[in-house]
Amino acid sequence: MAARKLLLLPGDGIGPETMAEVGKVLAVLGRAGSPFETETALVGGAAYDAHGQSISDGDMALAMAADAVLFGAVGGPKWDGVPYEVRPEAGLLRLRKDMALFANLRPAICYPALADASSLKRELVDGLDILIVRELTGGVYFGEPKEIVDLGQGQKRGVDTQVYETYEIERIARVAFELARTRHGKVTSMEKRNVMKTGVLWNEVVSRVGRDEYRDVRLEHMLADAGGMQLVRNPKQFDVIVTDNLFGDMLSDIAAMLTGSLGMLPSASLGAPDSSTGRRRALYEPVHGSAPDIAGTGVANPIAMIASLAMMLRYSFEMTREAEALERAIAAVLEEGTRTADIMAPGCRQVGTAEMGDAVAARFERLLNA
Ligand code: NAD
Repeated sequence: MAARKLLLLPGDGIGPETMAEVGKVLAVLGRAGSPFETETALVGGAAYDAHGQSISDGDMALAMAADAVLFGAVGGPKWDGVPYEVRPEAGLLRLRKDMALFANLRPAICYPALADASSLKRELVDGLDILIVRELTGGVYFGEPKEIVDLGQGQKRGVDTQVYETYEIERIARVAFELARTRHGKVTSMEKRNVMKTGVLWNEVVSRVGRDEYRDVRLEHMLADAGGMQLVRNPKQFDVIVTDNLFGDMLSDIAAMLTGSLGMLPSASLGAPDSSTGRRRALYEPVHGSAPDIAGTGVANPIAMIASLAMMLRYSFEMTREAEALERAIAAVLEEGTRTADIMAPGCRQVGTAEMGDAVAARFERLLNA
């Protein structure tokens, strides 16, 4: 079988350290007969140092040609003073824009071994598995006009515009319904139709797509503020949540904190399916940043990065068996008490980045061969 082509963009800070652990998992897959061809390129501060840009045109072309992109993290105090257009984050924004990644998937999974690290009671989060699907390229972050107008006499007016068109809501709704079909068959759509016109349209379009195309999926609607409350009151009632860019930004951060450490959280951003191959453009990355405070010390938790790889196996390559084995390997390593510093608990064994990567890769190989 032709090798699947991956572009690795480790970036800055702990990005390269955690990306190195991905290599161990890919080596296991190669030995199991699923080879991946990888190429590594620069993004963020590392790209700025080399090319004066946060991602070069050549590396951008590699991203467009790859079957999937794995991204580490960008940024750090070293680049605080660089010009705004070439700041490290601009590399990630260009990738999202040029690859037209309109759907952001943020799972909130609570591993039983870490349930006590949650800010909620164990029984509320133990076994939690929800998926937030956030619209990523529209809404109030991009709508025009977006400006601060000087009104004179010391007064100004700040304006942001929340705007959505039918096709934007249809395509994100379809992503959510399709994903629900592979999970527990339920979608909760969140908006503010009581006070926002975009909310009325969102509700109307999601309802129609559900009725016309996904009768087998249960659809419920919730006002986004009530949704935030329900997320901390009874999070296990949800399966897939679909919402707009702004609400998704906030609700996915709330859901993240239900599960413990930032070092555990993966994400995926998906674009439209390619007309010839049917494969969606896709970028997978941990939710955390470059953690300059611990970069280079070998203590970063690589699980968010490895779990991002598991999402890639599932969503870009339909390698469900391998994705499940990798997620089970992570759970098993945590269960036996192997922990990086950020998730350390009494009675557990503290390890560094490389040792955690070794432990997960070894367990993954055993599970694949079982
Ligand atoms: P951060 O996520 O980098 O770190 C927040 C805290 O969590 C730090 O104390 C850090 O040590 C800890 N942490 C994060 N990931 C960890 C891991 N894998 N293992 C153990 N501990 C971990 O957020 P920040 O400190 O606000 O930002 C640092 C830099 O990262 C900034 O330059 C910021 O702009 C950038 N950033 C980048 C991204 C991205 O690349 N997608 C996302 C967020 C922040």
